Amino acid sequence: MSAWCAEDHDPLVLVSGDGALLTDDQGRTFIDGNSSIWTNIHGHNHPRINAALREQLDRVAHTSFLGFTNPPAARLAERLVKLFPAETLTRVFYTDDGSTAIEVALKMAAQFRQLTGQPERTEFVAFDHAYHGDTMGASSLGGIPLFHDRFAAWQFPVKHVPDLDALRRFDPARINAVIIEPLIQGAAGMRLWPAGMLRELRAWCDAHDSFLILDEVMTGFGRTGKMFACEHEAVTPDFLCLAKGLTGGYLPLAATLTTTRVFEAFLGGPERTLFYGHSYCGNQLGCAAALASLDIFEEENVLAGLPARVARFTHALDPLRKHPRVKEVRQCGLIAGIEIHNNTAASLGVGICLRARAHGLLTRPIRDTLVLMPPLCTTDDQMAQAVTALLRVL
Ligand SMILES: *Cc1c(COP(=O)(O)O)cnc(C)c1O
Repeated sequence: MSAWCAEDHDPLVLVSGDGALLTDDQGRTFIDGNSSIWTNIHGHNHPRINAALREQLDRVAHTSFLGFTNPPAARLAERLVKLFPAETLTRVFYTDDGSTAIEVALKMAAQFRQLTGQPERTEFVAFDHAYHGDTMGASSLGGIPLFHDRFAAWQFPVKHVPDLDALRRFDPARINAVIIEPLIQGAAGMRLWPAGMLRELRAWCDAHDSFLILDEVMTGFGRTGKMFACEHEAVTPDFLCLAKGLTGGYLPLAATLTTTRVFEAFLGGPERTLFYGHSYCGNQLGCAAALASLDIFEEENVLAGLPARVARFTHALDPLRKHPRVKEVRQCGLIAGIEIHNNTAASLGVGICLRARAHGLLTRPIRDTLVLMPPLCTTDDQMAQAVTALLRVL
């Protein structure tokens, strides 16, 4: 905060956007190199989403979801369920952001075990270096010391494992659920899981009747080259958490999808009630934006174009892969982490990203890993420009 408040600090004030570009209050334009912290999908100021929001705004902005429903929320739930194989994820619970999408998955899983006579299944397992959000419950699952250690005394107990082999050493009869960021851990610095790992994890959970919770808050909505990361390994989870890209990056809205089996455990008397809700659950504007984002996927054939787009992104990153100052480029679809060699104690990423602004690129590093994950609509020229900006600074 002292750096932010310092007399000579000149904060970047973003005032408008268009596609993959953002403009500041001095008229400078930048490529939104991290999709406004991994949220934006189809670009800023998209006419389709703008129109949907204006139309919704002329009806009503928000109404309570507590004992009521509304057309965009109902339609969106139906559309989300249809994005998965029939009879897999059939139910949708709305919240506001990634952290709360995780919270409700945890509470549903915990209550499910109580309701179904499995009180011994109390343990949640998460992976080292995981990031599942900043609320207390979600951060209990986290495995990034810098973010999570300070609050360790107040967090609920979670078993952390480095990999599948370590998971296999636990008593499976006590495990309620295993949670993972599929294919790639984001906040950890864009760390890739080995191919096939997710499928093996699903098989392990099936064999031991443990839930699999997938955190697709970052990977959802086309980022990995398919609509959802779990499709790469033909896995469906028991709980799937969506947020960031759900509204195309317009508004805070999240959804936790689950199965008929979980849903049905909550049917019955009031003692089965899941006491969980937020004021803005099922927000009409958010749901209208999300519906418009799904329309764009269909109308602009976004998914069909993704493999070629990913191939062009891979190609655009080539000069960075070969750069002597680059240790490694880790890529998953349209997500890239470019790790810089660093023999010093200080982190180099922040300085590099600050200087990239002068070359028209806006992004944020994770320590020494530079993140490039622009909106899916970014043009080839803009991709090349983003890479050139990093090369110049390096
Ligand atoms: C960002 C993120 C979250 C938390 O989402 P918020 O909307 O910031 O609360 C959770 N999991 C993953 C994988 C994320 O990238």
